[in-house]
Amino acid sequence: MSTFSLDPGPDQTAVRDWLHGFAADVIRPAAAEWDEREETPWPIIQEAAKIGIYSLDFYAQQYFDPSGVGIPIAMEELFWGDAGIGLAIVGTTLAAVAVLANGTDEQIGTWAPQMFGTPDDVKVAAFCSSEPDAGSDVSALRTRAVYDEAKDEWVLNGTKTWATNGGIADVHVVVATVDPALGARGQASFVVPPGTPGLSQGQKFKKHGIRASHTAEVVVDGVRVPGHCLLGGKEKLDERLARARERAAGAGGAKGKNAAMATFEASRPAVGAQAVGIARAAYEVALDYAKTRVQFGRPIIDNQGVAFQLADMKTRIDAARLLVWRASWMAATNQPFHNAEGSMSKLYAGETAKWVTSQAMQILGGNGFTREYPVERMHRDSAIYTIFEGTSEIQRLVISRAISGMPIR
Ligand SMILES: Cc1cc2nc3c(=O)[nH]c(=O)nc-3n(C[C@H](O)[C@H](O)[C@H](O)COP(=O)(O)OP(=O)(O)OC[C@H]3O[C@@H](n4cnc5c(N)ncnc54)[C@H](O)[C@@H]3O)c2cc1C
Repeated sequence: MSTFSLDPGPDQTAVRDWLHGFAADVIRPAAAEWDEREETPWPIIQEAAKIGIYSLDFYAQQYFDPSGVGIPIAMEELFWGDAGIGLAIVGTTLAAVAVLANGTDEQIGTWAPQMFGTPDDVKVAAFCSSEPDAGSDVSALRTRAVYDEAKDEWVLNGTKTWATNGGIADVHVVVATVDPALGARGQASFVVPPGTPGLSQGQKFKKHGIRASHTAEVVVDGVRVPGHCLLGGKEKLDERLARARERAAGAGGAKGKNAAMATFEASRPAVGAQAVGIARAAYEVALDYAKTRVQFGRPIIDNQGVAFQLADMKTRIDAARLLVWRASWMAATNQPFHNAEGSMSKLYAGETAKWVTSQAMQILGGNGFTREYPVERMHRDSAIYTIFEGTSEIQRLVISRAISGMPIR
């Protein structure tokens, strides 16, 4: 087990500097253009693939880095460049993580590399869980998966919404309910291979921020996938459903729920790190601006009111990063999240990004309100960080349940 250290070490520092170079030289200069176009920045994903930033290997290396903070460092640097392009680059990992967490070795070997494609022919993947009537309440999913035993096929029907890369992905991972009476415990995840008939893109959303990242509805209408596309396999699903039915019949226990919670706790710091990247970027712009903008014959930072704003911004960003690093290290070293430390990190980092970017706009005055300066975009981008991957309210719910042991509603 690696000892927690705030020095990421030479290897991780080199990765950070390399990613920072890509973020500064490639991502940041392209950010305004792709934000306006509201399209997936395929050429930038391809550049990332060519130098090894967009690949399964890269994320696996960061995940297994002994420092425990490989993923947050990577996320912070890419999203410091730009959050929309950052999400276009890392959105595939949502689906990849679903396969890595639930799939058999064979499924991982088949699907995970296909999700990224090759540097000459890059692909993206989508993770489709949310539905129009099931956002925070994931137990309410209506998309059904029915097993056709004669053909050893699963038949999927339903409408997914808010799917990052939905419809433009080669590989989609669709969460569906097999036994609705069991709520979240009656659900399973299915890989829908490229070109499967019946899967189509619904409306593409026009968004407030992270506009270079594609978000759309995905409709599955009589989609048939082979039995081997059920992640984890049928035997494991049948065992899991049998256990859930026993519990529902009164045997008690919350093992399944705890396993799902542990997965969320481990993945949330990565999202928190993205928010830290946005916040740091806006803070840096505001600090430079405050030192050079002159009003009343002196730089505006000479006013204690402005200087204190910057002091608070920097303090909150560093505090958010520390929470993110702690939770990420806990996940890497298999520590139990007794106080929902993963949710804490995402909650605090998301709220910090929203607050810091709004302070940055204020420090830039009228310029902060225009698209001539990047903080206006960063402010819009930050807003998603209190919404997706569990809203701030849901993080508070999880934390309050963890610290109290009570079924807070
Ligand atoms: C840009 C974008 C990308 C996304 N990408 C994906 C993706 O790739 N895959 C995917 O599956 N999903 C994705 N999502 C969906 C996202 O995770 C959901 O939007 C989010 O979980 C919230 O669900 P909802 O929008 O239905 O809000 P709701 O659940 O309807 O919540 C509305 C409000 O009610 C509050 N609320 C709800 N329940 C409670 C409660 N019990 N206590 C207190 N407050 C509560 C919420 O906090 C929120 O403020 C994405 C969403 C967006 C906007």
